[in-house]
Amino acid sequence: MTTSNRTFDIAVLPGDGIGREVMAACLELLSASETATGGPALRVTTHNAGAQYYLESGEALLAATLDACRAADAILFGSMGWPDVRFPDGTEIIPQLDLRMEFGLYAGVRPIRWFPGLPKILTDERARDIDFVLVREQTEGLFYARGRGEVIDNREAYDTMQITREGTARASEFAFRVAERRRARRGSARVTCVDKANVFTSMAFFRQVFDEVAAKHSEIGADHAYVDAMALMMVKKPWTLDVMVTENMFGDILSDLAAGLIGGMGMAPSADIGDTHALFQPAHGTAPDIAGQGKANPCAMFLSAAMMLDWLAERHDEPQLEVRARLIERAIEATLESGAAFPMEFGGSANCADMSRAVIAALPDAM
Ligand code: ATP
Ligand code: MG
Repeated sequence: MTTSNRTFDIAVLPGDGIGREVMAACLELLSASETATGGPALRVTTHNAGAQYYLESGEALLAATLDACRAADAILFGSMGWPDVRFPDGTEIIPQLDLRMEFGLYAGVRPIRWFPGLPKILTDERARDIDFVLVREQTEGLFYARGRGEVIDNREAYDTMQITREGTARASEFAFRVAERRRARRGSARVTCVDKANVFTSMAFFRQVFDEVAAKHSEIGADHAYVDAMALMMVKKPWTLDVMVTENMFGDILSDLAAGLIGGMGMAPSADIGDTHALFQPAHGTAPDIAGQGKANPCAMFLSAAMMLDWLAERHDEPQLEVRARLIERAIEATLESGAAFPMEFGGSANCADMSRAVIAALPDAM
């Protein structure tokens, strides 16, 4: 493999609550893994944003920070928001939604994979084979309603769901690209369109556009499921699932359910990907209930960083970054499997710092 001396600029936004805690651990792991593999360097610049920053400065997300994110090769994000910290108009501080819109990050990618040693939510042995990817359309759907809903005469309220051909087609195309990569690894792949086409016109349209995209990818299987049936399937036979694509709100709900399947939010990474930019963050929020205690499980943040390395590797043809991503995953696996450290989230005794020390210590053997 050729060694590259390239440097990639990473805009880091640690955010609030446990976002900051898991980010600090993640930056240590990224730097240790870079030393271990050699190859392209990551140049990290850290930017304050979020609820805490809003309290200090009166701004939640500076224009200069948006510019830095635009110029960077990738964005690494903790979590933002805090109960009761709101803008004067009462809306919540959720800069991640602004970043999604600003950079057209239309595909929310949530890989769900079983890791050894995790508490068995599902007692079936096949739970070990859980390995699926949820692709959530995240620029429209029911979230289109944000800031647009109305209450009429204090008697009725309305929100609008928006489904466009362009939005649905690009999310579906994205899901088929994910499936193609999985097919290369596993021999076959299938994309399931998750909708409610039997009730909503907008969802029937979503399904129609999905079918048009599917017809262009005949080498990949395609099918449909109603979202309620999918919720049942996720709990009953999650090991049969492969790649799913769904509307924004359905994806929001299903991805938390999916995280629950593998133990909890602390194991669920995510990526927000567009055509030119991408942001990587754990699927969890700022967890005010445990923030400030150093107890958070940093694995979801670590796995999100591995997704970032994979995305950079593919985009810039830098296979060494992919090697680094696999190294991080194997070190997490080894740590959990050996019990060298087991997260407090699952009843173990390892806090955030213990987890990150153990995963870093597992790097040499994971090479
Ligand atoms: P958001 O509105 O941003 O989705 P949320 O209110 O749904 O946030 P999360 O922060 O996602 O809350 O977390 C839900 C619960 O899961 C938390 O209260 C916390 O106890 C637990 N949790 C989340 N992430 C972690 C983690 N990394 N380690 C340990 N526990 C976690
Ligand atoms: Mg949540």
